[in-house]
Amino acid sequence: MVSRAALLYLSRQRSLKNFFIKFPGFSQVTHRFIAGENIDDAIRAILELNRQGITATFDHLGESTTSEAEAESDVREYLHVLERIEATGANSNISVKLTQLGLDIDREYCLKNTRRLVESAKRHDNFVRIDMEDSSKTDATLNIFKELYHEFGNVGIVLQAYLYRTEKDLDDVLAMGARVRLCKGAYQELETVAFPDKKDVDANFIKLMRKLLKSGIYHGIATHDERMIAATKDFARREGVSKEAFEFQMLYGVRRDLLLKLAREGYRVRAYVPYGEYWYPYFMRRLAERPANVWFVLRNLFKG
Ligand SMILES: Cc1cc2nc3c(=O)[nH]c(=O)nc-3n(C[C@H](O)[C@H](O)[C@H](O)COP(=O)(O)OP(=O)(O)OC[C@H]3O[C@@H](n4cnc5c(N)ncnc54)[C@H](O)[C@@H]3O)c2cc1C
Repeated sequence: MVSRAALLYLSRQRSLKNFFIKFPGFSQVTHRFIAGENIDDAIRAILELNRQGITATFDHLGESTTSEAEAESDVREYLHVLERIEATGANSNISVKLTQLGLDIDREYCLKNTRRLVESAKRHDNFVRIDMEDSSKTDATLNIFKELYHEFGNVGIVLQAYLYRTEKDLDDVLAMGARVRLCKGAYQELETVAFPDKKDVDANFIKLMRKLLKSGIYHGIATHDERMIAATKDFARREGVSKEAFEFQMLYGVRRDLLLKLAREGYRVRAYVPYGEYWYPYFMRRLAERPANVWFVLRNLFKG
């Protein structure tokens, strides 16, 4: 059985991408989780989701950028995405990773790049969500987020229930009045920083979800876990939190049935829609979340 840890290790081995793309069946397999290679593919996928009552967030795949040329190209892509959202009327915001915008190159450079996006989103009456990466980036990510939140307001953050520190971070962010996307956390972390047992992660997720729902601020509850979703619905009902006061979020290609069901029940729902050529680490993290997906991949790769 392939373990989560092994898949997360592989997700960090960039050179393997070149190995995988040699298989002709691979594009079919990645298309389960990735909307396509270019912006038109993503717009098409998002407009289709919108028709079904699902809003979206664009993710132009990229992370761990080490050159300014790459970071600049990503900034330009996102500026273009914001224009295309307005032009097409797509109901979508954008999600960005700070290492994609140069965090590993220089903090001030990354801040400048992220500011360009938040500023442009503000002009387009849109919103930027800053994804959370592994725990070595948490402080820097929160600092940049806080600075831009105070400057512009139209930016939100992601917090991960698997980190011990998150409850404190969540209290700080709530005190600012900012919007949070709560997720469990997708990276390989040490026991010194993150709960090693799934049941503790789940218990923390529920505890944090309750704080978010009671805050009166519009947050995103990002999970495919039916028990987390049921706990959220129950808590909202008990506390009189309306269905318009928060949203459920899921990843493109994972549990669309559940997203549609929630939309039909009157909940607000959003899909995270990744596109682009740099799919390898994102795709491997999706396999790590459900190692059974590896068999789905292998079957498709070798079937013909
Ligand atoms: C909108 C969104 C944004 C996210 N942003 C971030 C981020 O910024 N930083 C970060 O660290 N993580 C992020 N994540 C990932 C998150 O941290 C988890 O790794 C991921 O959502 C799996 O956790 P789960 O809550 O679905 O529960 P799990 O307990 O992992 O899964 C519950 C059930 O959901 C289904 N499922 C879950 N994942 C998959 C999959 N890949 N394929 C098929 N079925 C699956 C399975 O049926 C599984 O049994 C995001 C997730 C979502 C939904």
